[in-house]
Amino acid sequence: MEAHKERPKILIVDDEKANIDLLVGLLRPHYKTVAAKDGEQVFRRLERKPLPDLILLDVMMPGLDGYGVCRRLKEEITIRDIPVIFVTGQTEEADEAMGFEAGAVDYIGKPLRPLIVLARVKTHIEMKRRGDMLERLAILDGLTGIPNRRRFDQFLDYEWERSVRYAHTFSVILMDIDFFKLYNDEYGHAEGDNCLKLVAGAVAAAMPRTVDLAARYGGEEFACILPETTDEGAWIVAERILENIRNLKVPHATSKVADHVTMSIGIASVVPSNDIRSLDLVEMADRALYQAKRGGRDQIARLAEGG
Ligand code: GH3
Ligand code: MG
Ligand code: MG
Repeated sequence: MEAHKERPKILIVDDEKANIDLLVGLLRPHYKTVAAKDGEQVFRRLERKPLPDLILLDVMMPGLDGYGVCRRLKEEITIRDIPVIFVTGQTEEADEAMGFEAGAVDYIGKPLRPLIVLARVKTHIEMKRRGDMLERLAILDGLTGIPNRRRFDQFLDYEWERSVRYAHTFSVILMDIDFFKLYNDEYGHAEGDNCLKLVAGAVAAAMPRTVDLAARYGGEEFACILPETTDEGAWIVAERILENIRNLKVPHATSKVADHVTMSIGIASVVPSNDIRSLDLVEMADRALYQAKRGGRDQIARLAEGG
């Protein structure tokens, strides 16, 4: 699994330029720094990727104060995991307690003591990065590096609920490599693993939309979740996947359908409602996949609602 290559990024929030300059000067030799002078700028900075690994937040600011900014940060699912350290002269017990209650992980008192600032920042950056790595390990497939079954299930639940609310058509694609047992028998398990990596890359490359998810579903099976996508849209994605696989030109001498590795694909689409579970849609895609296998493999089949 790849570790972070980029330097950690720190967002410094303070309404006084002198304080920002001081912190930037201190941290810039070790970290990437960005600054914001009020709550409004904080949220604008957070629209840009990559997100910071740490936020140093002044308490006393005009408009929304540090506590308010922190509380709002903690409401946003995509940014709530960024640790926040308050940097402030208000170091009474009640002030600090309020900061922790708002969701901060630590407190740094003003006037700033450079060595203490650097030490605290380093500790929290390391913890954040370790947390990020564990999270990645938990949701990515170890062999292919694309999302795993666990992530698939998570994403499916989340997107399904959204689609029920908005009554958007929702599609799932299930794929299975053809005669993969024969491939392993012919070329060996290590080559088989290598083939799975190539296929995973080809599947992921066929799905450029960030709202879609491609995952390794199990052994030699892959799956895609396509929210807000009709069966026509899913069909286009599936064709692109087949084309990418074809272009890999991975030889498969013992396949009974081609001289290279191929896949069979099943598509299912529904308008989600409370009468149908996300699992029903996956099961439909599985039935479609079975049809594609029975129809001669290296092809796409689909089931729409009622099918
Ligand atoms: P079909 O066209 O009907 O799908 O035939 P198949 O041979 O692909 O299907 P089957 O389910 O019989 O075989 C799946 C094979 O996938 C068997 C298993 O050894 C192989 N496989 C599953 N996971 C891995 C893996 O992680 N690495 C390797 N090398 N092989 C795997
Ligand atoms: Mg299989
Ligand atoms: Mg197979």
